[in-house]
Amino acid sequence: PGPVPPDEARNVTLLGALAAPSLEMVWEMEEVSRRARTDALTGLANRRAFDEQIEQQLAHADRFGHAVSLILADVDHFKVVNDSWGHETGDVVLKSIAQTLSAGVRTVDVCARFGGEEIAIILPQTALVGAVELADRLRAAVGANRIWAAGNEIPVTISCGVACYPDGALTKEALFAGADKAWYEAKSAGRNCVRSAAPKPTGTAR
Ligand code: GH3
Ligand code: MG
Ligand code: MG
Repeated sequence: PGPVPPDEARNVTLLGALAAPSLEMVWEMEEVSRRARTDALTGLANRRAFDEQIEQQLAHADRFGHAVSLILADVDHFKVVNDSWGHETGDVVLKSIAQTLSAGVRTVDVCARFGGEEIAIILPQTALVGAVELADRLRAAVGANRIWAAGNEIPVTISCGVACYPDGALTKEALFAGADKAWYEAKSAGRNCVRSAAPKPTGTAR
C-alpha cells in the first residue's frame, strides 16, 4: 500500500538486475534437461526418461509394497499408413495417438515413446485388472479418434500388451517379457485389442 519510495524502487531494480543472469541460467539448464528427456516428434517422454522412470517406480514399489503395471502399445499396420499416405502423414498420426494416450492417463502415469511406433506406459500403484481396463479404454479412444491429415481421414488402431509387477512378474525383465508376450498375443488375435500377462509370478524376486 502507498507509493514505493525511490530508494526502495532502486534497490529492487538493482537486485533484479543481479539475479536475472542466474535465474536465466537455471531456466536454461532446466530446459536442456527437459529436452533431453522428451521425444521431439510426439512430446512424450523419450526412452532415456522411460528407463529412469521404470527403475524409480520399481524401487518405489519394492519399498512400499505397491504394484506397478506396464502397457506396451503398438500402432496396427502403421507401415500401411506410411505407404499409403506418406511418412509425414505417418508422423501426424503418431503425434495424434500420443496426444490421445497422454490425455487418457493420470498425471502420475508415464507415457513414453519406446521405439518407432511403440508407446510404453508406466502405471504406478496400479494392479493388473486396472491396467487392463485402462489399456482397453485407451485402445477404444485411439480407434474412435478421427485423424485428418492432408484432407484424408486416417483410420488407426493400437494393440496393447499389459503386465504387472510384482503380481505377475518378479523382475523388471519378467515384466517386460510378460508385456511383450501379451502384446504379441494381441497382434496374433487380430489387432485392435488388449491382452495381458498371466497374474502368476514368473522370474526370481529382485
Ligand atoms: P503391426 O500391426 O504388426 O504392428 O504392423 P506395422 O506395420 O505397424 O509394423 P512394422 O513393424 O512392420 O512397421 C512399423 C512402421 O513404423 C515401419 C516404420 O517405418 C514406421 N515408423 C517408425 N517410426 C516412425 C516415425 O517416427 N514416423 C513415421 N512416419 N513412421 C515410423
Ligand atoms: Mg505396429
Ligand atoms: Mg512396432
